[in-house]
Amino acid sequence: MNPVWVRFVYSCIVNFLSFKNLRRMGSWTVAGFLIFLASGACTHPSSDQKNMSQQNDKPNPYYSRTDTTKVQVSDAEWKQILPPDLYEVARNKGTERAFTGKYWDYEGIGTYYCAVCGNELFRSDSKFSSSCGWPSFFETRRPNACTYHDDRSHGMYRIEVLCGRCDSHLGHIFDDGPPPTGKRYCMNSVSLEFVPDDKK
Ligand code: FE
Repeated sequence: MNPVWVRFVYSCIVNFLSFKNLRRMGSWTVAGFLIFLASGACTHPSSDQKNMSQQNDKPNPYYSRTDTTKVQVSDAEWKQILPPDLYEVARNKGTERAFTGKYWDYEGIGTYYCAVCGNELFRSDSKFSSSCGWPSFFETRRPNACTYHDDRSHGMYRIEVLCGRCDSHLGHIFDDGPPPTGKRYCMNSVSLEFVPDDKK
């Protein structure tokens, strides 16, 4: 939020709490506060609003939660289909900032699918709390849900995790996870789509 707005809201709250000063508040302050509330500027984005960034008016004909056959689509076509934030991570191997994704501390019970193609990736009971700031899992839903590639970018060696169906970038896997696998699938939230069990 803009610091000017923060100072403005703070002064308004202090004045309101001190009710005896209410009469001394100028009419412009009251009017400004009402306009501020009406604009919704003081609210954090709702989950629906956050999800808007992943929505796209263009249909995705390759998305299926039941079809496990490989999907081979050019990046040019994916760019026409996917929302920009998903395209950047999934096809350009980008990484969302830690502690910003919608699933890093999410505890819903259900299934995580590939946001690009609908491939079933993880169950919520394989998700664990990690301090890394990205959603972390210790195992995939099925053995071939993901594929793995050597990644020597950014001057380090890591193992990249790709969707086993559409080859989209999901994140990386590390050996510091909990039992029983000892693995940590460190995923980008934007590459995942969570479906609660009661909505399957
Ligand atoms: Fe996929």
